[in-house]
Amino acid sequence: MATSLVESQHKENPFEIAQQQFDIAAEILELNDGMRQILRVPQRELTVRFPVTMEDGSVRVFTGYRVQHNITRGPAKGGIRYHPAVDIDEVRALAMWMTWKCALVNIPYGGAKGGVVVDPKDLTRRELEHMTRRFASEISILIGPEKDIPAPDVNTDAQVMAWIMDTISMHRGYTVPAVVTGKPIDVFGSLGRMDATGRGVSITAREAAKHLGVKFDEATVVVQGFGNVGGASALLMGNMGAKVIAVSDVSGGYYSSRGLNIPAMQQYVRDNRSLVGYKEPGLEMVSNAELLELKCDILVPAALENQITVANASRINAKIIVEGANGPTTPGADEILYDRGVFIVPDILANAGGVTVSYFEWVQGLQEFFWTEEEINERLERIMVRSFSSVLDLALKHKIAMRTAAYLVSVKRVADATTIRGIYP
Ligand code: GLU
Repeated sequence: MATSLVESQHKENPFEIAQQQFDIAAEILELNDGMRQILRVPQRELTVRFPVTMEDGSVRVFTGYRVQHNITRGPAKGGIRYHPAVDIDEVRALAMWMTWKCALVNIPYGGAKGGVVVDPKDLTRRELEHMTRRFASEISILIGPEKDIPAPDVNTDAQVMAWIMDTISMHRGYTVPAVVTGKPIDVFGSLGRMDATGRGVSITAREAAKHLGVKFDEATVVVQGFGNVGGASALLMGNMGAKVIAVSDVSGGYYSSRGLNIPAMQQYVRDNRSLVGYKEPGLEMVSNAELLELKCDILVPAALENQITVANASRINAKIIVEGANGPTTPGADEILYDRGVFIVPDILANAGGVTVSYFEWVQGLQEFFWTEEEINERLERIMVRSFSSVLDLALKHKIAMRTAAYLVSVKRVADATTIRGIYP
């Protein structure tokens, strides 16, 4: 009892987890030792400490990171996260996962991630803008359309991307649309980017359900997290006929056996910033921990890392887990769930819709030629379905978990590119 309490309180190091996941694939692929040494660590890491003048005239120094895990297959790509729990190992893990994610869906990018240690709720809008612009300025030695292209992640959005784009454009003296993705539509953003991650989650959930013979229009869905990813996933899966019986945000879990009114919940969050105080007939409150253990067909963890661990994996009551978040399931939990027959669509596949439409946005920005929403959604659908089926085929062929199969595809692509390019000098 005491041990499990300690275990559940101990946050596993995400970078060690990312390395363990890589090691499993490296072993099966029989990568040589040199290749393993290259791929299991980030290529470049920048730590910045920078001052921001707050509204009251005081100065606060923030810490931020930009890590480029690998740029063999193209410019570094990955979001920027604002969160009090950001640290270098989290950013390293997230950067490494971006490398595999981009390789898996076969877009010409390496992997990167950035973060600032901050709770943006503590800042006024002006402070947030100044902090963002100064951070963009600090990491401008790394970023650029041909070098490293940030995007939104936890607690960052289209407005934050607009400020970064504007800051880099001011440095250069001309507008540089392709320096970030996830921008507002008015300033070179792409149609379909806002809900692209959620769309990819719903497409892979649908494919997983089809594979397992679960009828999607009779499926029950539980979503942890109600931000950009969780909110769009819940809405789109509801539109596709599934019944979303629970969602949560930092204020807790909202459960209704008859199915939640997701459009009303999204409107409530737009008006009130969170779900606190949301009401509808038949609604029950559950804790975030209870939410993960609800009986359902499809569970979508769309919040943070380390949510499904050895402490709760044996109590997960879903047939399918579709990882909207990055790193929600630990390797220990993966083993328990695999043995229990729970089908996991891993993060680098399930949430790759976001970076895929980021790629479309970058291409449109470079060409200054913009596509229709139909074109974007069709191309996204094709890429997600193709990626899902190549991972599933490999998983069935070798009788391995979907995560292992996804890593085999992506790690092999990066390793092959590394071999063909050779080692400089
Ligand atoms: N932050 C998102 C992710 O983890 C999107 C990254 C991007 O579009 O570059 O995949």
